Amino acid sequence: MGTTQENLPENDGNVELPAAPVMGAVLARQALPPKGSCWYCEKPLDSVRRFCGKDCADSFDEEAEYTR
Ligand SMILES: [Zn+2]
Repeated sequence: MGTTQENLPENDGNVELPAAPVMGAVLARQALPPKGSCWYCEKPLDSVRRFCGKDCADSFDEEAEYTR
């Protein structure tokens, strides 16, 4: 019995995954539909944005983490 298909490089579990950002919070935020106003402070926005600025997006993320 000599069917050795073991010519693959050694892989002892060290599979390198692409550096993933904190998927949970980011995805949760980006899954939000734009609703015409800031999700955090309710300031009116155009119809494609979810937050009026990075501050609100960050704050929203923080709250999402705490309420997990
Ligand atoms: Zn805002």
